[in-house]
Amino acid sequence: MSQALENLLQEDRIFHPSDEFVAQANARPGIHEEAAADTQAFWKQQALDRITWFKEPTEILDDSNPPFFKWFKDGELNLAYNCLDRHLEKHGDQIAYHWIGEPGDTRALTYQDLADEVNRFANGLKSLGLKKGDRVAIYMGMVPELPIAMLACARLGLVHSVVFGGFSSEALASRVLDLDARIVITQDGAWRGGNVVPLKENTDTAVAQTPGIEHVVVLRRTDHGVAMTDSRDVWWHDLVEGQPEECEPETLNAEDPLYILYTSGTTGKPKGIVHTQGGYLAAVTTTHSYVFDIKPDSDIYWCAADIGWVTGHSYIVYGPLANRTTGVMYEGAPNYPNFDRLWQIIEDYEITIFYTAPTAIRAFMKWGDEHVAKHDLSSLRLIGTVGEPINPEAWIWYNKHIGGGSAPIVDTWWQTETGAIMITPLPGVIATKPGSATLPFPGIVADVVDEAGQSVPFGGGGFLIITEPWPSMARTIYGDDERYVDTYWTKFPGRYFPGDGCKRDDEGYYWLLGRVDDIMLVAGHNISTTEVESALVSHPAVAEAAVVGRKDDITGQAIAAFVTLRSAVTGDEDLLSELRDHVAKVIGPIGKPKSIVFTNDLPKTRSGKIMRRLLRDISDNRQLGDVTTLANADIVSEIAEMAASSSED
Ligand code: ATP
Ligand code: MG
Repeated sequence: MSQALENLLQEDRIFHPSDEFVAQANARPGIHEEAAADTQAFWKQQALDRITWFKEPTEILDDSNPPFFKWFKDGELNLAYNCLDRHLEKHGDQIAYHWIGEPGDTRALTYQDLADEVNRFANGLKSLGLKKGDRVAIYMGMVPELPIAMLACARLGLVHSVVFGGFSSEALASRVLDLDARIVITQDGAWRGGNVVPLKENTDTAVAQTPGIEHVVVLRRTDHGVAMTDSRDVWWHDLVEGQPEECEPETLNAEDPLYILYTSGTTGKPKGIVHTQGGYLAAVTTTHSYVFDIKPDSDIYWCAADIGWVTGHSYIVYGPLANRTTGVMYEGAPNYPNFDRLWQIIEDYEITIFYTAPTAIRAFMKWGDEHVAKHDLSSLRLIGTVGEPINPEAWIWYNKHIGGGSAPIVDTWWQTETGAIMITPLPGVIATKPGSATLPFPGIVADVVDEAGQSVPFGGGGFLIITEPWPSMARTIYGDDERYVDTYWTKFPGRYFPGDGCKRDDEGYYWLLGRVDDIMLVAGHNISTTEVESALVSHPAVAEAAVVGRKDDITGQAIAAFVTLRSAVTGDEDLLSELRDHVAKVIGPIGKPKSIVFTNDLPKTRSGKIMRRLLRDISDNRQLGDVTTLANADIVSEIAEMAASSSED
């Protein structure tokens, strides 16, 4: 960005929490100010209050070798112990997970059940000769054995790396090689949309290219008959057979690695982010409790992400279990067998807290309101979103149709790299505005700066940065310290640069504006993709929109829009010009797209994020960049054809 971002979208709607919510909220007014007075003291207090340490830390932050920061570095603990053992005496019978299989089978696992299974599996892993520090790749669907495998690793000090079950064998192989993993844990198959995803076959293909893999552990789930390779492959049930339900938790240092997780690959080649034990657990438990207002004795909490993403690591597994939450896990597709599957689950389990992504919300809008209306969702008292900026109209829809108009919405900004939620409303404390993630979490210090690193006054936009270290920050990119420094710490030396654009309104609320790489420069104006897309989505015919800047002889770049319509609408020339005019009216003529293409879908990562860089490649007739994380390859060629024949303003 050579100059400040234009401030295009005006959003004046404001939502205050009800008195009833305020009265019972975990977060109290003044908590931001208290934490700001001494951020390190704040985090130390959280770490001592929320974690059972084998040896309490005396040191808080070690900043002697920036940007390689350490937190609580003389502390000792075990995360499986914190997630399981410490709850057992009083709460062993409490449900940890209600699990719902896609075909309709269900399981309820108590904390005691989970602890027993984790220990037996951990003993099984030991019998394979694994030892502290070894890397374990986990390539599974959403079955209870996935968190069990993660916790078994955590118990032994093995470093897990979960590879989303929707990835191909190539994506698995490249991650296994990067990790130098010793084993892969997988399933025969996973259920998805009524089909079997052939995880074991994919693993076989991957492992043929990864000589370091000694064993493949296979959970039987779909039972469709898979080939097992003697001496390399072992069934999960055979591995745990006869294993004792006791397994001593390894005493680990706060800075020992916990896991490596690859970023979504929205902007390029995925990065293997390393997270450690103590600081990570401190931040995920603190944020989980305050942001989701968790009441362990009464809430039924559903984070509907996949555990293959950081959201699942922090807010399905480690945060919720350490906070003794009763959670829900669903195995399959949200529209299988019907478009109301999720709402049926919320009604059946009387879920109180629900957390999903804007991409899912836009799909719900596209599918139509009637699927939601069939169900009683009145048990919900808090709903959240993560993953992309949420368009204000999608926020309003979520509020009205899912939140019943009263449940506070938490729009949480964070990244694989940050480990935990960073910018978010605190329900009961902060009034919300549709499309704004509001304010940094207590103990997180952020700023919005210009190209020169100078703070931009309220009312203006620029680069989001985090100015002080925080406990769950990434420690490095696995095996590539240099890329870690270059990617996050070089643009604004000494300060963390996440790569996102942001503006602050007059009250200091943060409005995330999408990736800096995606920002468009039209006739000398910096325009955020998010604002133009939100203007498009505010038209009643539009479900989803992506815009990119494509080369233009006159204006440098011109705005090219790709639009998905709501289910009942068909796109024609009239609607095209109506949408152009609509954008001009909402945010001004500068944001008016030069071309609009109607499409059934947009290119997305497997976590559902719009990959604008591919739309840019299409628009400028370039060869496509890294497509290994692309979920829907067909749509890219379809869009390319349509873009070539589309009309211009
Ligand atoms: P890669 O880093 O490989 O390009 P990625 O950035 O999509 O992939 P993630 O770590 O899964 O990988 O996503 C983090 C990014 O998602 C953030 O940097 C931000 O752009 C976006 N994001 C997440 N939550 C929000 C939110 N509430 N509002 C706006 N943007 C969000
Ligand atoms: Mg990223």
